[in-house]
Amino acid sequence: MVEDEPAAAHIIAKGLREHAYAVDVANCARLALQRASASDYDAIVLDVGLPDGDGLDVCRELRDVGMMTPILMLTARGSVHARIAGLDSGADDYVTKPFDFDELLARLRAVLRRGARALLPERLHVGPLELNTRARLVSAKGGPALRLTTREYALLEYFARHAGEVVGRAAIAEHVWDDTYDPFSNVIDVYVQRLRRKLAAAGCGPLIKTRRGLGYMLTEEDAPE
Ligand code: CA
Repeated sequence: MVEDEPAAAHIIAKGLREHAYAVDVANCARLALQRASASDYDAIVLDVGLPDGDGLDVCRELRDVGMMTPILMLTARGSVHARIAGLDSGADDYVTKPFDFDELLARLRAVLRRGARALLPERLHVGPLELNTRARLVSAKGGPALRLTTREYALLEYFARHAGEVVGRAAIAEHVWDDTYDPFSNVIDVYVQRLRRKLAAAGCGPLIKTRRGLGYMLTEEDAPE
C-alpha cells in the first residue's frame, strides 16, 4: 500500500491485515517504485497524492516496465478528471476518498480476481479441504469450520493456491508475512506445525509435506503416513 498520511496508512493496513492480507506500506513515490521492483506483490493500493510525486506517474512507470500487478488507485472525491486519469495511467480500478472500507475490500478482491494470475477463486478445494476465500473459512470433509487465526488462514490459503507445488520459505514470507518478518526466525515452521495439528484434529491425513531444504507442499492425498 502506498499512502503518505500516517493515520490513513495505519487504518487501511490494519484493516487489510485483519482480512488476512500481508501488507507493506510505502509512504512516497520513490519507495513505492523501489518496493514494487524488489518484491512480487499480488496487488498495489496506490494513493494519487504523494509528497514526492503523483500516484499516476508511479502507475505509469510500473506499467512502462511491464509490471502487470493489479493496481487499485485511491483518488480524491468528486474528481472525475482524476479518476479518468487514474484508469488511463494503467490502474485497474479506483476508490474515491473517503471510502467505505468494505468497498475497498470488494474492489481489491475484484482486481485480484481480474489480475493476470487469477489466483483468487472464491472457493478452493484441495483433497478433503474446502476454503471459502471470501468468508475466510476452511472446512475439512464437509465438517464444521476450523478455528484458525487470521495468519493461520492466510498461510493455508497460500498453500491451497499453490497446491501440489513446493513453496519455499522466502515466497511464504513475501506473500503471507509483511516486512516485519524476521528471516532468521522459525515462525513459518511454527505456523505450519499449528496448521498440521488443526488439520489432524479435523480428521485429515498429513496434507502439508515438508520438502527438506526446499519448503512445504500442500497435497491432495489424504492418506495416513
Ligand atoms: Ca496522500
